[in-house]
Amino acid sequence: MIWLEQAQQAIIAASRRLPVEIVASARASGRVLAEGVVSREDLPPFDNSAMDGFALISGGAPISRDREFDVTGAIAAGDAPGALAAGAVEIMTGAPVPAGFDAILPVEQSEILARDDAGRPARIRTCAEVVPGMHLRRRGQDVARGQSILAAGARVDATAKMLLAALGIADVQAFAQVRIAVLCTGRELVDDPRQALSPGQIRNSNGPFLADRLAGLGADVCQRETLPDEVGTFVSAVRRALDSRVDIVISTGAVSMGRYDFVPEALRELDAEIVFHKVAIRPGKPLLFAQLPSGALFFGLPGNPISSAVGLRFFVQPALRAMHGLPAESPLRLPLGQSFEKKPGLRFLQKAVAGIGGDGRLQLRVLAGQESFRIQPMLVANAWAVFPESSERHAAGDLVDVYGIEDGALSIQSGAGA
Ligand code: AMP
Ligand code: MG
Repeated sequence: MIWLEQAQQAIIAASRRLPVEIVASARASGRVLAEGVVSREDLPPFDNSAMDGFALISGGAPISRDREFDVTGAIAAGDAPGALAAGAVEIMTGAPVPAGFDAILPVEQSEILARDDAGRPARIRTCAEVVPGMHLRRRGQDVARGQSILAAGARVDATAKMLLAALGIADVQAFAQVRIAVLCTGRELVDDPRQALSPGQIRNSNGPFLADRLAGLGADVCQRETLPDEVGTFVSAVRRALDSRVDIVISTGAVSMGRYDFVPEALRELDAEIVFHKVAIRPGKPLLFAQLPSGALFFGLPGNPISSAVGLRFFVQPALRAMHGLPAESPLRLPLGQSFEKKPGLRFLQKAVAGIGGDGRLQLRVLAGQESFRIQPMLVANAWAVFPESSERHAAGDLVDVYGIEDGALSIQSGAGA
């Protein structure tokens, strides 16, 4: 049995960086950037109006109210700025501001004194003071050309895509998607939710959970199988995974001490190197990590649902970070809302809620129902609370290591009071 840090170090040491490829930004959702992105354009690309109104020439000094101007032209979004030299220019939101004009009087703060034959404003009066630069969006005010906008290691989400699109960045250098096979073992497992359970059967909940979380982490779950407790079938499934060049095989179940816990035997048959088996944690203690002859990583997660969730969060995810060139995560530290007791000897990884306590401060509540078969408490958990091996008693207010339930981010929901 080894400590969690040793286990994680061994995993990181065995993880190889994924190859890098050029990906169209439009198709890069969920990808992790292998190189930072530098803008080649200014955003906005030209000075433009933030309001519908009239562009004016301030000459660097405020224009007082009750000043009158002839309207010398009109510019809408999509028009080129044109050459206008004097007076007021009717301007729409997003339209380029003509050279020399440097302030916008919103239409709500103007009075139209005269209109031309087509009904367009011909002469206006200011109903408020106009300050130089008012309601103007400057070229490059959001992003200047040459500025770094996304760092290597960033995941391409909707916001990143909005910025990439705004800047005309057609493609990015991203890591190839990690290819993962998920093999759930257990002759008791039923996959079809419509199938009635026969005596002794249970439904496979690890498979859907792992597939979903892994997809959310940007992985390509290219193989998913549910297998009986049989060495031969399992070995063939792993061979199929290796034939399709997976980077990672994740199995659930059959790594404990039971008579049917055959995964170590299957790994020997596959000439895998078992790096460790059993980690000083609860839940998830029987976890096994091996390296297959192809270099692919093998994670044998215990079958209980929360053990498999812990395996994904604290063992597979560090490997994914390393494969994406990211440093190991560091925990947050939060005070406990209530005291907590545990047995010494194992590190406890507990479903928890980080939220606002009665005193208005952020605090951590360890949830009831920590047994590794209990899925329901994880529905409200937004965090994992981590208690050291040696500790037995933690008082309310003690600082505890905290990791987000899914990834680095800890999202504090309103109403998730600790
Ligand atoms: P094992 O690690 O194979 O001894 O399984 C431990 C416990 O987890 C047993 O109660 C299994 O029935 C249960 N279990 C194993 N695999 C799954 C799965 N895919 N979904 C839900 N429960 C499972
Ligand atoms: Mg089993």
